[in-house]
Amino acid sequence: MFLFDTQPSTLNTQTMPLPADYHMHTPLCRHAAGEPAEYAARAVAVGLTEIGFSDHSPMRRDDFDDWRMRFDQLDEYVGKVRGAQAQFPQLTIRLALEVDFLPGQEGWIRELAARHPWDYFIGSVHYVSDSWAVDDPRKLSEWKSRDPWDVWSVYFERLTMAAETGLFEIIGHADLPKKFGCRPDRDCTPLYERFLNAAKTHDCAIELNTAGLRKDCKEIYPSRRILDLAFQTGVPITFGSDAHAPQEVGIHFAEAVQLAREVGYGESCRFTRRNREMVTF
Ligand code: ZN
Ligand code: FE
Ligand code: FE
Ligand code: ZN
Repeated sequence: MFLFDTQPSTLNTQTMPLPADYHMHTPLCRHAAGEPAEYAARAVAVGLTEIGFSDHSPMRRDDFDDWRMRFDQLDEYVGKVRGAQAQFPQLTIRLALEVDFLPGQEGWIRELAARHPWDYFIGSVHYVSDSWAVDDPRKLSEWKSRDPWDVWSVYFERLTMAAETGLFEIIGHADLPKKFGCRPDRDCTPLYERFLNAAKTHDCAIELNTAGLRKDCKEIYPSRRILDLAFQTGVPITFGSDAHAPQEVGIHFAEAVQLAREVGYGESCRFTRRNREMVTF
């Protein structure tokens, strides 16, 4: 039915344009390497025509954690992205943020939104409490004292709340708690459905984030199960490498596109100044 079903090896930029890579970082977050211009050069080299920078947004308090830009670096971040735009006019480069959602942060997120003409915000849940980000390898021991079902329940409850705020165009890596392989043995369908219904109601897309393939879970975020439900619910998608180094830009996009097509998707979102447009891939 699709080209990829019979000839996966023919998937390349000659036969099919790659969707935009909307999730990548800069060294300002203190755990990524390479300047925006290097990410852009890599994007051009792998045949992408559109990317978006979505570095970890500052928190209201700079001492909240140590893996994001400080608030006084926000203008510098925007300047770096603008610089890459000027240097690579052949590439569409979006200005965005990966914004941490924690309950109570809505006011701060609105303040950030008002500061620059962002193209989109990715709302990501990393924290299931004020002190534990489930994907932090330094906090791996937290998993040992908790029931995975409880963690996943809180995670998806926060993801649902994030979608309901209407502050985000995209919800990031929707099943991040699987990163280290800690999964509940119960059926999570009710958690997924609640979240996806909220995403649909509040016009939120979800991303296919290929970083999962580079982690212990060895699987794109989110799972095929969630993507199937998302497609049935009518939740649109974007694609992201979550690159923390230039060589990760566009990585595993052939697999992500194939997965999206198998689930039924044929178009993805692009965002300009927080306005959505659908494009086929
Ligand atoms: Zn990061
Ligand atoms: Fe993230
Ligand atoms: Fe990210
Ligand atoms: Zn991320």
